[in-house]
Amino acid sequence: MEANQFKDFAKEMVDYVANYLENIRDRRVLPSVEPGYLRPLIPETAPQQPDKWEDVLEDVERVIMPGVTHWHSPRFHAYFPTANSYPAIVADILSGAIACIGFSWIASPACTELEVVMLDWLGKMLDLPPEFLASSGGKGGGVIQGTASEATLVALLGAKARAIAKVKGEHPEWTDAEIVDKLVGYTSSQSHSSVERAGLLGGVKLRSLPADDKHRLRGDTLREAIQKDIDAGLIPFYAVATLGTTSSCAFDKLDELGDVCNEHDVWLHVDAAYAGSAFICPEFRYLMAGIEKADSFNFNPHKWMLVNFDCSAMWLKNPNWVVNAFNVDPLYLKHDQQGSAPDYRHWQIPLGRRFRALKLWFVLRLYGIENLQKHIRKHIGLAHYFESLVKDDDRFEVTAEVLMGLVCFRLKGSNETNEMLLKRINGKGVIHLVPSKINDVYFLRLAICSRFSEKEDIDISWREVSATADELLNTKTA
Ligand code: PLP
Repeated sequence: MEANQFKDFAKEMVDYVANYLENIRDRRVLPSVEPGYLRPLIPETAPQQPDKWEDVLEDVERVIMPGVTHWHSPRFHAYFPTANSYPAIVADILSGAIACIGFSWIASPACTELEVVMLDWLGKMLDLPPEFLASSGGKGGGVIQGTASEATLVALLGAKARAIAKVKGEHPEWTDAEIVDKLVGYTSSQSHSSVERAGLLGGVKLRSLPADDKHRLRGDTLREAIQKDIDAGLIPFYAVATLGTTSSCAFDKLDELGDVCNEHDVWLHVDAAYAGSAFICPEFRYLMAGIEKADSFNFNPHKWMLVNFDCSAMWLKNPNWVVNAFNVDPLYLKHDQQGSAPDYRHWQIPLGRRFRALKLWFVLRLYGIENLQKHIRKHIGLAHYFESLVKDDDRFEVTAEVLMGLVCFRLKGSNETNEMLLKRINGKGVIHLVPSKINDVYFLRLAICSRFSEKEDIDISWREVSATADELLNTKTA
């Protein structure tokens, strides 16, 4: 494809994208296709001769769109949001054009340097303690990981390296394998499945501790578990606190957990994948009280801060534990400026990395902090509006405190009734929700996801829930 064709194709695509997004609420949010729907719609083999771009564009509507779940529709309420904005989309075009692989500073200095500064901008927006920021002149700094799951694993590996080094100092006769066998980490029963996975990938024991009646992990629970393990000859080394759990958006008591971790020299990682974006608003920062006691902190601007996937921001007070844990240094990756700027390949699992800081830069500049705050506050306001509609209907109950953009609710009655309700709602395809279960109580989760969501959209979603409950309860009593 030559530049002139590219310009025509790209301009058409930009029109298509804008029309798609601006009219997204008119599409059925959940596709009705069956597995295997796509193969018959395209040839069995790749074309020998080039197709025309006009034909490719036409096929987007014919082949792709019927099988798309429209995550940016105001009718989409499943999981947590994934972000989308025009500045981030444009930044991704530029990133695609530069197409560098910024594994080390010299591999594309702008890629590394913009990332360092953007993580400082973002850290200041959240009012993170200065020890996390590169601009403080200390050891700390930030990095963009692909996902929160990677951040949790990277933090665990850093914690493991720190613990091994410390124990080796005390017991030089112990082998690495003997030490690793004694290491034990902690998280709550409400943390994301990626935490358990990090334990499996990192080859260490990880305990899942019970949460309190508000689904929060408390300091005393952690203290007791740590003491029990120390008494049994084990070595506590890592804990994960969640700010905004996936099931119900509960906030672990970070302040309490921080004290316990600091007393026992346990690395505290904070997973705020979804809710972390809300900390750009000062009024929600009470939920991150104790952050100064953590060793690493992570949230996903790609969830709720209008930066398209993937952009998971992670800060470490002392990245050296991670950098040294992963440090392999072949000649072909060495460069003369090593040590004067981060080589981000040492901060992450893969070698390759895209120029993701561009989309953060574009979004922060083209929205400004004020509009990003408005976005968060609007979503939380809409969640409270939905909560009030649920509470006004005697048949329903709200099952968790609404703090962010998530409402957990259910029909009063059995799990089976609620399972049937959700099945019917999703079956109709007008709105899309997913369930969760805590302590054997099944409930529906309605997350405010789309940046296009307005009050009228929430009315539509509530009418869909309420009308489906009418149908279900009427058929049950008929
Ligand atoms: N942690 C929490 C609290 C989450 O809610 C999620 C996903 O929703 C994750 C981690 C995983 O995020 P990622 O897909 O970025 O790994």
